[in-house]
Amino acid sequence: MEVFKFGGASIYNAQYIKQLAQIVKEANRPLVIVISAMGKTTNTLEKIVNAYFFHNKDFKPIIEEIKNYHYSITKKLFQKQHIVFDKLKTLFSELEQTLQVAPSMNYDFDYDRIVHYGELLSTTIISEYLNNIKIKNTLINAQNLIHTDSNYRQAKINWQKTHKAINQILNFQKTDIFITQGFIGSDANKQATTLGREGSDFTAAIIAWALNAKKITVWKDVQGIYSADPKFYPNAKLFKRLSYDETIELAYYGAKVIHPKTLKPLKDKSIPLYVKSFLTPHSQGTIITEFDKHLDPYMPIIINKTGQTLISIRHKDSSFITERDIEKIFCAINHHKIVNNVMQRSALNFSFCVDYHRVHLPNLIEELKRNFQVKYNTDLQLITIRHYDRETIKKMTADKEILLHQQSRTNVFFVVRNK
Ligand code: ADP
Ligand code: ASP
Ligand code: MG
Repeated sequence: MEVFKFGGASIYNAQYIKQLAQIVKEANRPLVIVISAMGKTTNTLEKIVNAYFFHNKDFKPIIEEIKNYHYSITKKLFQKQHIVFDKLKTLFSELEQTLQVAPSMNYDFDYDRIVHYGELLSTTIISEYLNNIKIKNTLINAQNLIHTDSNYRQAKINWQKTHKAINQILNFQKTDIFITQGFIGSDANKQATTLGREGSDFTAAIIAWALNAKKITVWKDVQGIYSADPKFYPNAKLFKRLSYDETIELAYYGAKVIHPKTLKPLKDKSIPLYVKSFLTPHSQGTIITEFDKHLDPYMPIIINKTGQTLISIRHKDSSFITERDIEKIFCAINHHKIVNNVMQRSALNFSFCVDYHRVHLPNLIEELKRNFQVKYNTDLQLITIRHYDRETIKKMTADKEILLHQQSRTNVFFVVRNK
């Protein structure tokens, strides 16, 4: 069996959904199709979460925006009386009911309860559409497949329970195509959870792992994995082949094309991952497998992560930063679910560069201020160059003010802002 994953860009409009149908029609079976929310729906749902949780804005117009977007696509794909419209209506009223209840004290819990509707909506539309054009499939709610802990917004997989559920439910006895949602799961109390932004790639890998898939294909709006984001670097080159480890590293440092957690389950079972374009499905794309050379062709890889905050800590009385202090700092980072990307230590200072988060980052800074003097800069970029050379470093740091520079044998990191 095989696993396909379609991301937000590949189901952004009715024409692309028709293209998805064409790809599925030509595909090998049995097949599991994992689908994200349409277009930028998750970002829009995040706006609802913020308006709801902070009571600072009316979220009704934002719900209308999501409704209009989904209904306008659905109208292009179905006749007026189709059952899909009732199904969407039910989902929207469930979402509205959720928002009528006062927020809990837990931002992440409320986030997951709201944001997972993006995937429920998209899969309902696509499953119905494929059935309508005689590509028979069964829609399964991923909350019955992906079992997690209650670490909302960044839930951890219960691998044993998930393995069992996937093998029991996705058994191909009555259908040869299953459709399910990426990114979402449920905890032991059947509450909605999510696996972290961009987590649908990871869901597809979990399913491939549990079912020992022959291969997995993620369909993107780019031809495969490039030496830099091709949207910003038109001269970036396409990799024909990458190793699992190389891909884990570049995803970890922020190459948005694949979620970093995707690779481990695939590597564990030697399942090849194909990254291909849904716009040109017959072109080869990038293949990720076990590969001694790690990357083909060999060249520097540039990864640019925006929205970074550089935090520098020192003792108020100028004493050394000790191992004990670092332990405290890491406990706090972990407690506030902050993603730490790069760090540096001197006798008196400890600096680290993290992803911005509107709620959790101010809480982390507050906590650190209890013991330390804390300074920070926001709106920075983290530039990572793997397999660096002098020329690439020069090109990437021209016109930039460098706030932190760190170099190892394979990687060089710069935390920068524009001059
Ligand atoms: P999906 O929604 O299907 O998961 P994403 O938008 O998350 O797709 O990932 C695809 C995007 O990743 C591309 O449109 C591209 O702009 C971006 N990207 C960043 N780095 C790279 C890279 N090294 N190679 C290819 N695409 C990249
Ligand atoms: N819809 C989710 C997101 O936008 C998951 C995904 O697309 O992978 O983050
Ligand atoms: Mg993605």
